[in-house]
Amino acid sequence: MSFFEIVDPIFKTFVLGNAPLKEIATGFDWVEGPVWFGDLNCLVFSDIPNNRMYRWIPEIGTSVFRAPSNFSNGNTRDRQGRLVSCEHGSRSVTRTETDGSITVIADGYQGKRLNSPNDVIVASDGSIWFSDPHYGISMDYEGSKAEQELPCNVYRVDPSGEITTVLTDFNCPNGLAFSPDESKLYVADTGRIFTDDPRHIRAFDVGSDWRLTGGDVFHTIAPGCADGMRVDSDGNLWSSAGDGVHCLAPDGRLLGKILVPQTVSNVCFGGRYKHVLFITASTSVYSVALNRRG
Ligand code: MG
Repeated sequence: MSFFEIVDPIFKTFVLGNAPLKEIATGFDWVEGPVWFGDLNCLVFSDIPNNRMYRWIPEIGTSVFRAPSNFSNGNTRDRQGRLVSCEHGSRSVTRTETDGSITVIADGYQGKRLNSPNDVIVASDGSIWFSDPHYGISMDYEGSKAEQELPCNVYRVDPSGEITTVLTDFNCPNGLAFSPDESKLYVADTGRIFTDDPRHIRAFDVGSDWRLTGGDVFHTIAPGCADGMRVDSDGNLWSSAGDGVHCLAPDGRLLGKILVPQTVSNVCFGGRYKHVLFITASTSVYSVALNRRG
């Protein structure tokens, strides 16, 4: 039985009929933040409730990368290849330097503490964009319950270090992704916890000076909602969903799905040619080779 669901015929050319969906690591509580290090041939990801980050190396397996991880969530790499992480516990975004030391990039705005940075991306100019929903301070499961001091915004940290709000009209911004030419920014809204807030992906036009306009609903994932997401080199958006991974065309149409046995939190491209999709899904990490490149 295939775990691919073809919605648009083009999706048949995106997937490989004989490539397996593999569970490459398991036994976690809620994995998130997958990031590929091609130069080190490994995947790093977070297990948020267990306050750890792990490293998975093909043919070798999984080991603890960082513990405690300050309840790290989303991860990415900057233009120099350094690890950039969102931490619920420290309520900050950090960068791991090449010597292993950790630099705080952002932990507050206008004198108030951030909520719990969730997901992060780096633009071609080196600016760091992250979402700051309240999930990590709403309960003790993925961090520590604490008072919310700031609205759930999306922020941009300029290469100079200056932090500004770029999106302020979200209930709870979550996953972010730029289109390949950075003309579009996709941001998931997963709504405030314990509410029926709408859950959808919005698309923004990125102008000169990185100013954002637009922001219409791009797609509403069903079942479940979009958490983390990545764009392939042709601009298709691969989003987490309740039943797996959904592939969306640049015009927002659902093209097809990869059905995954557990609820998916996030994805990233990796492997030799960035043609392997790594999928963090509840208690396990999966991989599947695609006929696409990230
Ligand atoms: Mg997230």
